[in-house]
Amino acid sequence: MMTKERERAVTMDETEQRWIADALERLSHSAFRAKFTLSERDRAYARDKGRDAIADHARDLLRKRVGDAEPRNDGRQTPWRGHPVFTAQHATATCCRGCIAKWHGIPKGRPLTDDEVARLADLVMAWIDRDLAAHPDDELRLF
Ligand SMILES: [Zn+2]
Repeated sequence: MMTKERERAVTMDETEQRWIADALERLSHSAFRAKFTLSERDRAYARDKGRDAIADHARDLLRKRVGDAEPRNDGRQTPWRGHPVFTAQHATATCCRGCIAKWHGIPKGRPLTDDEVARLADLVMAWIDRDLAAHPDDELRLF
């Protein structure tokens, strides 16, 4: 998995990089989305586990919770806290199929493709990367 993730990071093409930058830009104009930040506990967890592991979690959580054509409890399936990916999902509007349809143009009522899951997970990871980079002090305080 680690190797696979690294390959993906290397092969992430310019179109996807632009899409992520554009999505983060659009989300920054939403007062609701922009207010989310990781807790210190989430940041410590993310740094301890490492990026590859968190990226695996992101793909797994997205596939299981929003990947089906009609996910269980759609609209309420993503907790507000408890894992950095959950918070990142609310911040990036990847929390439920309604938000994914509205913000990312992927229609409801059909399963997400592997490529869509990977792309949304990359968006979640870009948001987590940015939050961690914006809060380097947390790391220093741990040691
Ligand atoms: Zn939602």
